[in-house]
Amino acid sequence: MDQEKIKQAIELLLEGIGEDVSREGLKDTPERIARMYEEICSGYDQDPAKILSRVFTVPDSEMVVEKDITFYSLCEHHMMPFFGKAHIAYIPKGKVVGISKLARTVEVFAKRLQVQERMCGQIADAIMDNLSPEGVMVVLEAEHTCMTMRGVKKPGSKTVTVATRGAFAVRDDLREQFYSLLKMG
Ligand code: ZN
Repeated sequence: MDQEKIKQAIELLLEGIGEDVSREGLKDTPERIARMYEEICSGYDQDPAKILSRVFTVPDSEMVVEKDITFYSLCEHHMMPFFGKAHIAYIPKGKVVGISKLARTVEVFAKRLQVQERMCGQIADAIMDNLSPEGVMVVLEAEHTCMTMRGVKKPGSKTVTVATRGAFAVRDDLREQFYSLLKMG
């Protein structure tokens, strides 16, 4: 990541909105923001295949659900945060991963400039490609600050996206089972 370029861009942005870049409170802001982007856009350098490579063998294939995985991302249209929860279900075909790996997979895709629909599909595809389960389903619910802080200004409104692969794409009963598990406390 080119920290210097980000720094210059923030200086220009501050000038553009009519700020005095040299005043005390803003003196270190460009550098601070450059460092911040290093963290909030760190997903580009990470490979979900690596994260999902440590698998455990299981005999049966019951649905595995990991819900309420908190994530923060940036919408690529406004570079404003969108944040919420990811819920993941998959039906293993002999292979499972540690629960924390699902959360890390969400993180890899969240820490890039995103579109919620695409992020939802990327998480599903990463699990499908690396674990080869019977099926996977991902639900993301998020508040987009580009919609709640500006524009249509609907505070608290949530955008929900769903991605289904394999058995979840063709079987209503599996989707319903997942939704009913999401409703439990
Ligand atoms: Zn946006």
